[in-house]
Amino acid sequence: MSLSDKDILKIRDEFPILSRKVGERDLVYLDNTATSLTPRRVVSEIEFLYANSKANVHRGVHTLSQEATDRQEHTRRRVQGWINADSFEEIIFTRGTTEAINLVASSFGDRFKDGDEIILTVMEHHANIVPWQLLQRHKDIKIRVVDINDRGELDLDQYRSLFNEHTVFASFTHISNVLGTVNPVKEMTEIAHSHGVPVLVDGAQASPHLRPDMKDIGCDFYVFSSHKMYGPTGVGVLYGRKELLESMPPYQGGGEMIKHVSFEHTTFADLPFKFEAGTPDFIDIAAFSKAIDFIEETGIGNIRDHEEKLLDYATKRLLEIPGIKVYGNAPHKAAVLSFNIGEAHNYDVGFLLDKMGVAVRTGHHCAQPLMERLGIPGTVRASFAVYNTFEEADKLIEALKRIAPMLL
Ligand SMILES: *Cc1c(COP(=O)(O)O)cnc(C)c1O
Repeated sequence: MSLSDKDILKIRDEFPILSRKVGERDLVYLDNTATSLTPRRVVSEIEFLYANSKANVHRGVHTLSQEATDRQEHTRRRVQGWINADSFEEIIFTRGTTEAINLVASSFGDRFKDGDEIILTVMEHHANIVPWQLLQRHKDIKIRVVDINDRGELDLDQYRSLFNEHTVFASFTHISNVLGTVNPVKEMTEIAHSHGVPVLVDGAQASPHLRPDMKDIGCDFYVFSSHKMYGPTGVGVLYGRKELLESMPPYQGGGEMIKHVSFEHTTFADLPFKFEAGTPDFIDIAAFSKAIDFIEETGIGNIRDHEEKLLDYATKRLLEIPGIKVYGNAPHKAAVLSFNIGEAHNYDVGFLLDKMGVAVRTGHHCAQPLMERLGIPGTVRASFAVYNTFEEADKLIEALKRIAPMLL
């Protein structure tokens, strides 16, 4: 079963923002890779909670506090089920993907020694580069980088060859936020594990398009952000295998993460709370479960099918434009379309598209090493979500056809 035009219109009804104007024009929102829009049920839940049930979690004996705790823990179990993790203790709430990777780099990275090596890839988001570089302030750690081929796929032979007796960690993205490439993360995890090396998978771009299965992938850590999967901002998830999380020191200290505090000696709370210092964003965490409801009701397979059809259609039509160059042509690709028109600057294209109501992202997309590898300063990036339509893809193409002669 796939989504009909009528289904898409019904879905669009859930997103009030889609009926706003930009200037005089209808908004065409094609910046879903940066953040997706939010369905009414999520917005309503946030409003409901602030209006009716706001109380801090964990510490309270009173009814409202217990309701807040129940809601937060409900989302934790919802996420656990969604990603097929063994236990709720393996689900840690963070502020987002970025904080989740920083947590792992800082806490798991505590055990790394001078001379150790970490494997990353050239297509990583800065969030999966800089936290590892921060470790280099205190330790002489080497970062080895997997390259891509002309289609924007990782060079798996080179990846294999990077492992040696110094390798202590591998961290790579599930889906590239620039190229759209879906990486073979299960195979890459198996390769790392055959060398006894633990793995983090950055799922920020995968979680809106597929259901990441922890048992299937077999990775040690998996991270993603709620705001890219129709949920509220300010919430991220770190999945970690329990034995590893238990062996790691806390990331931040404060309330919630302790068992007992004295000035002589403090003991830490059990998982997952050991890694959740301070008051969490409990309202947005609670509302995040409504975003998972939305994805589940719509069907993650339906979402992906629709996005892939849009991608195929938009790619084909984009190639009608003279001078167009598309970055990322992997056969296994998510609905991310990065391109440039001739020598035109990506910013100028994005600026003119905005004048026509079309919202795309321009620039380096937090992936400067990838831009350097491609030999360009940046790209124009259009990306699709389940609520986008073929008419919107047409609007993008028609706008580009008007813009191209102005810039070339
Ligand atoms: C967006 C993104 C991040 C960072 O996510 P935040 O929500 O900004 O923390 C990391 N990796 C990839 C691949 C992304 O697309």
